[in-house]
Order: sequence, then C-alpha cells, then structure tokens
Amino acid sequence: MNSDAVLLLETVNFAAEKHRNQRRKDPEATPYINHPIGVARIISHEGGVANIEVLQAALLHDTVEDTDTSFAELEAKFGPIVARIVQEVTDDKSLSKQDRKRQQVEHAAHCSRQAKVVKLADKLYNLRDLNRCTPSGWTAERVQEYFVWASEVVKGLRGTNYALEERLEELFRQRGLQL
Ligand code: NDP
Ligand code: ZN
Repeated sequence: MNSDAVLLLETVNFAAEKHRNQRRKDPEATPYINHPIGVARIISHEGGVANIEVLQAALLHDTVEDTDTSFAELEAKFGPIVARIVQEVTDDKSLSKQDRKRQQVEHAAHCSRQAKVVKLADKLYNLRDLNRCTPSGWTAERVQEYFVWASEVVKGLRGTNYALEERLEELFRQRGLQL
C-alpha cells in the first residue's frame, strides 16, 4: 500500500486542501494548485526526474510559504527528506520582500541538488505563466524585472538539470538576457 503512486496522491491531496482558497495572479485567477502540480510535472516530464521525494517536495513547495502549514507537519506526514527540500525552497517570511528576493539569489548555489531541481522548475513555470498573460496590475517593466531577477537566481542553479536550464536560457534569450 505504500507505493509511490499512493504517496503522490496523498501529497497532491494535502497540497490541494492547503491551497484550496488561493488563486494565481493571472487575470483569470487560476486555482493555485495548478502551479505546484505543474511544477512537479515539469520535473518529471521535461526534467526526466522521477525521484519521489523531489516530486513530493515540488507538490508541497509553496505550502509553508503561502498557507498555515509548518515544517513539523510536513516532516510528520512526509518524512525528513521532503520537509528539508521544502525548507530549502521556502523564503524567510521575517524578511522584507526585497530581502527575500536578494536571499534567493545568494542562497541558490548553496542548495542541495534536489532543491535546485525544484527551484529551476518553479522559475520555469512562473516565467511561462508571465509569458502566457500579465498578472492583474503588473506593468511590462515589472514583468521584465521579474525575468532579470529570475535569471540571477538561475545563475546559481546551473549544472543541475540540462533540459530545464536549456528551456530557461531560451526564455531569458527571448528577453534579451544572457545567463
Ligand atoms: P512577486 O513579484 O514576488 O510575484 C511573483 C510571484 O507570484 C511568483 O514568484 C509566483 O510565486 C507568484 N505568482 C502567482 N501567480 C503568478 C503568475 N500568474 N505568474 C507568475 N508568478 C505568479 O510579487 P510580490 O507582490 O511579492 O512583489 C515583490 C517584489 O516585486 C518587490 O520586492 C518589488 O521588488 C517588486 N515590485 C515591483 C513593482 C514594479 O512596478 N516594478 C511593483 C511592486 C513590486 P510562487 O511560485 O510562490 O507562486
Ligand atoms: Zn512556486
């Protein structure tokens, strides 16, 4: 009964319940859960990574940052490896938004390989989302600033997953940015 398929369903159900009242920033206010599911799917489908703990961490990656979930809760339910990967990709909420952004750039290179894969897929999903449509209230300049910041983070993640990095590099090239 403890197959990977069962574990993944348990994980996606947990994430769906936690994010149930949240929406993305796109004008259609897409249900938030589409994002973590999409990030996990990028990792498996495009990154070729089938490691269960990485996929679970991808599904859970925004639960502590954006919901009432604690790391202790994740550890009790999904174990220390999954909880640790989520911790590595979670911003420190005691910092200002500007400092969180700076810390992501500074910390990227020091993350574990597993956390780097989740970060690459998270950035890829968000940049594709921004190309698909502009969030309500965002100017073109703010979108471009996000691409610039993401490219700084991705610099520290290089050498982790060639397929994901290639796709990110192409998006940065389209914006006139070089890694
Ligand atoms: P962010 O710039 O951090 O918003 C982007 C985040 O929102 C993404 O990382 C993603 O995070 C999430 N998200 C949800 N829906 C979408 C979507 N459809 N497309 C892409 N990402 C989505 O917003 P904040 O409000 O936190 O602002 C923080 C910073 O933005 C400030 O420090 C400032 O530097 C800058 N800013 C710039 C302005 C400007 O006009 N230039 C104005 C205001 C702020 P996740 O993966 O966690 O869901
Ligand atoms: Zn995310």
